[in-house]
Amino acid sequence: MKIVVMKFGGTSVEDSAAIGRTAAIVASRTAMGKSPVVVVSAMAKVTDQLLRAATAASQGDRAGALAISSRLRCRHRDTAADLVKDAAESVALARLIDEKFAALEEILRGLSAIRELTPRIADLIVSHGERLSSRVVTAAFRERGIDAVHVDAREFIITDSEFQKAAPIHDLIEKRTPEKLAPHLRSNLVPVIGGFIASNEAGLTTTLGRGGSDYTGALVGGALDAETIEIWTDVDGIMTADPRVCPDALRVKEISFEEAAELAYFGAKVLHPATILPAVKKNIPVQVLNSRNAACEGTRIVSLAPHCKSPFKSIAVKKKLSIIDIVASRMLMSHGYMSQMFAIFDKHKCPVDMVSTSEVSVSLTVDSNSSLPKIAADLSKLADVKYEGRKALVCMVGEDIRGQSGIAAQVFNAIRHINVRMISQGASEINMSFMIEEDDADEAVRSLHAAFFQNPDPAVFDVEARKLAASL
Ligand code: ASP
Ligand code: MG
Repeated sequence: MKIVVMKFGGTSVEDSAAIGRTAAIVASRTAMGKSPVVVVSAMAKVTDQLLRAATAASQGDRAGALAISSRLRCRHRDTAADLVKDAAESVALARLIDEKFAALEEILRGLSAIRELTPRIADLIVSHGERLSSRVVTAAFRERGIDAVHVDAREFIITDSEFQKAAPIHDLIEKRTPEKLAPHLRSNLVPVIGGFIASNEAGLTTTLGRGGSDYTGALVGGALDAETIEIWTDVDGIMTADPRVCPDALRVKEISFEEAAELAYFGAKVLHPATILPAVKKNIPVQVLNSRNAACEGTRIVSLAPHCKSPFKSIAVKKKLSIIDIVASRMLMSHGYMSQMFAIFDKHKCPVDMVSTSEVSVSLTVDSNSSLPKIAADLSKLADVKYEGRKALVCMVGEDIRGQSGIAAQVFNAIRHINVRMISQGASEINMSFMIEEDDADEAVRSLHAAFFQNPDPAVFDVEARKLAASL
């Protein structure tokens, strides 16, 4: 059996047109003789709106919370009515939606009386997004001739009790997922599951953290030893650079998990690689695809990258950073000094991006944030401190720079007209990052792209699109 786990994000189920496209994509996989297992997010923005309703209720704004819920009810009812025409099915689905909203509204009313929003209640409230979308999608699939069956993820995605960011209990998931899903697959049914939601061992609803549906997809794919996991989003995949900055950016056809992980940190919004770790561990390839452009083959994320003739796969940029320079000639990096310094960042809960040290000074970069003056005040008890905002970090990622000489020279030659403030080549040896002024960032990306992606390896990059553009 060729099992393919297909995860559809919020924009792929945002309205009846999107759900119609999603159904056609799933049908194309069954036509290829594959056995799909479908994982869906809540309809786009629903999770945010449910959280807003929860917050409003917990502040005593009962009417506000119920107004959000009633708008959501209309949206789900209207989408369902658009998609499901069969009289009996449509009545059953409308009733199901009403039941779920009745339950949700009861929780919201209770919350507005108690006025305390615990993580456990927040999870119960947001879980309605996926519980609803998965029902609507199942009915829409059936209407379109797909033998879909709804399965509640909370029966087999079992987690600890860390509500809002629960950790999966792998042994239980590995055991229960095939128990629940294999019988359906053997009967040629297509299971449809809400992503993101789970339950603890006591049966209470938990969630895997924001964006957690990808995680569900990988957990299910791992537990079923799927052939592939497809993550359907609304972009063509990972690109060599941001196409808005660099119009001749190319789609990366294949990238390693480690490379994707480095890029994700820079907000390459495609997916968070930590969430696909269960798939990578089992060597199951993850394909990122665009549900609005299903013909595009997307980006394949694999455990081991193929050898690539181009040293880099992609250039990412992170803006709105600040650089902090700490000069302490007095302490001369005496022992314990670094830990005192980092303790200050820790106290202010401020993550540090990049660190570079010399005998007497340390430079660090952090997201520009409002606690910087306080951090600087604390640091100035240890040393002289200066900080400056409006910086950008440019990061070039590629496994093939490992052990190659002369790459740094080529990088800095390409941007010799730009002032570089800080340089780091990560311990991972697959990224080269440097810090520049934010205003120089776009120009730097274009220069680097021109230098490194002039003749890209056609096995790894989609050069056809560029040829097509040139011939027009
Ligand atoms: N609906 C959840 C969220 O918006 C999970 C997901 O879509 O992945 O975070
Ligand atoms: Mg997502």
